Amino acid sequence: MEEKQRGKGHRLVLMPSPFQGHITPLLQLADILYSKGGFSITIVHTVFNSPNTSSFPHFTFHALPGALSDTEASTVDAVHLTDIINTRCASPLREYLAVLLSQGDKEDPVACFIADGVLHFTQSVCDEFQLPRFVLRTGGASPFLVFASFPLLRQRGYLPVQESRLEEPVVDLPPLKVKDLPLFQSHHPEAFYNLVCRSVDGCKASSGVIWNTFEELESPALTKLRQQFSVPMYPIGPFHKYFLPGSTSTSLLTPDKSCISWLDGKENKSVVYVSFGSIVAISEAELLEIAWGLANSKQPFLWVIRPGIVRGSEWIEPLPSGFLENLGGRGYIVKWAPQEQVLKHPALGAFWTHNGWNSTLESVCEGVPMICAPCFGDQKVNAKYVSDVWKVGVQLPNKLERVEIEKAIRKLMLGDEANEIRENILNLKEKANVCLEEGGSSYCFLDCLVSDILSLKS
Ligand code: UDP
Repeated sequence: MEEKQRGKGHRLVLMPSPFQGHITPLLQLADILYSKGGFSITIVHTVFNSPNTSSFPHFTFHALPGALSDTEASTVDAVHLTDIINTRCASPLREYLAVLLSQGDKEDPVACFIADGVLHFTQSVCDEFQLPRFVLRTGGASPFLVFASFPLLRQRGYLPVQESRLEEPVVDLPPLKVKDLPLFQSHHPEAFYNLVCRSVDGCKASSGVIWNTFEELESPALTKLRQQFSVPMYPIGPFHKYFLPGSTSTSLLTPDKSCISWLDGKENKSVVYVSFGSIVAISEAELLEIAWGLANSKQPFLWVIRPGIVRGSEWIEPLPSGFLENLGGRGYIVKWAPQEQVLKHPALGAFWTHNGWNSTLESVCEGVPMICAPCFGDQKVNAKYVSDVWKVGVQLPNKLERVEIEKAIRKLMLGDEANEIRENILNLKEKANVCLEEGGSSYCFLDCLVSDILSLKS
């Protein structure tokens, strides 16, 4: 982008969904538009999981009052919580925008609103003010193509998923099988379907969709979406690569940096990093299978066990006493890791992940092969692409068992396939770097996005 400050004198208002995997890319996008576009930035957010404002002194933050309490937030699942936000935030957002927009051109005029894609309520609020709204999709384009096909999948009988059909191919969406379709263990199964459909409609009604992905990674899905949606698509990721690692903190939990010095003492490409992101929960039995699978693999491992990840336990009480000590320094457990720095570390050999989109993309960008253990939502689609399309990882069977875990680790670290997988992911890593350089695909799409935002006002 030649004129780095083209957006100067224009304000963008952005709203994240209050979950780690959504807050991070939205704040990164805001920072990209601030630093590369010159725009002024306002972030409106819920009080629950409010972002770390001190990391972004150059932004204005506004908390929407009354959306939901922390107690309420801890008792419902993410789908239900998103529904609550979509209902209760409409009034406070309307009131806030009325004041902000009535200030007219005195300060930086608001050029547009950018909302997380699951906050579909923002479309009608923006329409009331004739404020253009862009959508940020924090997931990949390939899983979104599946979301956009939900009505068709229901019509064809693939949804709701039936146990007896899990191995059947989904004819309209190769290479997916029924078992790869995105599901959510919500207390209200219909709620997930409705949230998906409303979010898709919200994208169709928007001024454009911004993606934390890059054209070279997801060209087939982006091409199909361009055919199905009449709004522009801006794949301008990977967002985190615009910044130096650790330069800004978007983390809701404090990362334990001691694991970096532990990694320093390990051989190159020897360590398995294990993390299931910010939402996934596991049973005590699964925790033990993971523990023994890691122990029996004989590889060094760095394992993130988030407090509360094990249902019914505070932290790691269910592990056998002396578990780590008996491994003689081969294993290290933290509550939360500085993941970007971990994935960059030369000691990393593999990432055992739940395939949240951010983790998947971060792994691709650092060329770290993946062991995939997806749980819900888009994770299963992401995992399928990792293992079968990009061929940069292997999938564990659905049921976590120590023998299978040990086998998968050995296959990825030592087996015949390991070299091919490593070559494939290094190839993608290179493409992720090139797309951000001047003239690269993401560079050019960001340029288009800035131009399109500015042309809205002319
Ligand atoms: N993350 C982190 N430290 C950890 C585990 C995760 O910083 O110990 C970050 C990770 O880098 C990613 C985000 O949390 O940016 C998780 O997002 P993702 O989409 O992978 O999964 P989600 O948490 O939404 O399921």
